[in-house]
Amino acid sequence: SAQLLWFRNDLRTKDNQALSAAVQSGDAVLAVYTLCAKQWQQHHLAPIQADLIVRRLAQLRQDLALLNIPLVVAELGSFKQVPEYLLSLCQQHQITDVHCHYQYELNEQVRDEAVEHLLSQQAISFNRHHGECVVKPGRVLTKSGENFKVFTPFRKAWLASLTEQSFSPLGSPAAVNKGLISQPLKQLLEQPPEISCSYPRENSNAWASDDQQIIQQLRDFSASKASDYKEHRDIPALDATSGLSPYLALGMLSARQCLARLYLEHAEDIASQQGGAFTWLSEIIWREFYRHLIAANPRLCKGEAYLGWTESVAWQSDKALLEAWQQGQTGYPIVDAAMQQLKQTGWMHNRLRMVVASFLSKDLLIDWREGERWFMQHLIDGDFASNNGGWQWAASTGTDAQPYFRIFNPTTQAQRFDPEGEFVRAWLPELAQVPGKHAHTPHTWAEKNGLSINYPLPIVDHGQQRKQALHLFEQAKSAE
Ligand code: FAD
Repeated sequence: SAQLLWFRNDLRTKDNQALSAAVQSGDAVLAVYTLCAKQWQQHHLAPIQADLIVRRLAQLRQDLALLNIPLVVAELGSFKQVPEYLLSLCQQHQITDVHCHYQYELNEQVRDEAVEHLLSQQAISFNRHHGECVVKPGRVLTKSGENFKVFTPFRKAWLASLTEQSFSPLGSPAAVNKGLISQPLKQLLEQPPEISCSYPRENSNAWASDDQQIIQQLRDFSASKASDYKEHRDIPALDATSGLSPYLALGMLSARQCLARLYLEHAEDIASQQGGAFTWLSEIIWREFYRHLIAANPRLCKGEAYLGWTESVAWQSDKALLEAWQQGQTGYPIVDAAMQQLKQTGWMHNRLRMVVASFLSKDLLIDWREGERWFMQHLIDGDFASNNGGWQWAASTGTDAQPYFRIFNPTTQAQRFDPEGEFVRAWLPELAQVPGKHAHTPHTWAEKNGLSINYPLPIVDHGQQRKQALHLFEQAKSAE
């Protein structure tokens, strides 16, 4: 008999509960990844993220081979084809148990239920482990047993629910005994590392695909940046955040590994709930919050707003404005520079994600779902829960504790977080000549100096649009 390890959003060998359980059984282990290009398309997976997945799978195949575990990558099209495929794989290799980690998104849950149903008819057990979050969804509840609707009390309860296990990631398991491996599995072990994939891909080589580099990045961040994180994290011109989101999004690194490293070096900050390391931990808790939120509210995966009444906001569909936002041609330098960063690197600084999301929804009055989709199509760290949560927060349709009248002013945000215009000038060469603090209002500067610049005029007036946004929200609210 043998065990099947089904990789999904957990592309790691360390702190992998499903892998450890499969190996501990004492049987031979086969690993599989079901690459569903049609599903990726439907979920708007960015070509740069697809590339990182494929590179990671190649690396994983090598790492698993050292544990005597072959990795099969099957291109299947859509999720619908997965149950039959897994069953046939199980039958072909006398597999008695399948292991994987829970995924909390709706389509993934439906797929898993279908798999479980089909396998159970053949007495094959389907074991889902919780590995995406430090604290599993459903465990952090209010005193009356409900899910939290806002972050701060969630964080308090989440922290109170931590156990020693939360700080103790599993290592890599021992290799499977070679004597257990059947001839067909031995042949699979001989496969070359390369992975074929028909989905469009964009070069992701700026991001690591191997464990050593990723873990080193976590260590370096913890040792040299975590302490200053609270002061520096909002300044996009600084390299002050961890840059670990692509790895957390694909499960190349676990949140528990992050916690363990923090606890090792910053236990005091964590205990006193102060300092940079604690602020960073809070970001990891945001990630958990949004996962718990989608697990408890599957309707979020169907494109619904968290706050039902905001469905009546009369968003405006203006193709030209949307395109100007997407292409970084809004005439607001901070927005345009951020959109360039996204386009050119697949990543965007968190402060800027908030700024551009607020700009699309509150200044251009365009439905936040347009921005959510654009982000997924371009982000190397695209993650349904965090992206949906971030967009709904910024558009005031979600869990923000502040009411809808929080509207970012893109120019004052820029002056506050990029005071010398360093970030803006780095991404917009057309503004390179504009001196520091004027970079956020380049036309005023040019006019004063009798110069002309090759940069668009603001496509909307913030003051006017702000009023219009308030009006649209008030209208929707009064219809509640
Ligand atoms: P750090 O500051 O080092 O934070 C550490 C980790 O905590 C991150 O890697 C991430 O896993 C998590 N994290 C940090 N901030 C948040 C947050 N606000 N919400 C949830 N998790 C967080 N993050 C994604 O991983 N994928 C997305 O698709 C995504 N879309 C977003 C869309 C919008 C509109 C907004 C406002 C935020 C979005 N975020 C998303 C959250 C955040 O912007 C990124 O996680 C962060 O910028 C990644 O950089 P970092 O790894 O250097 O983060």
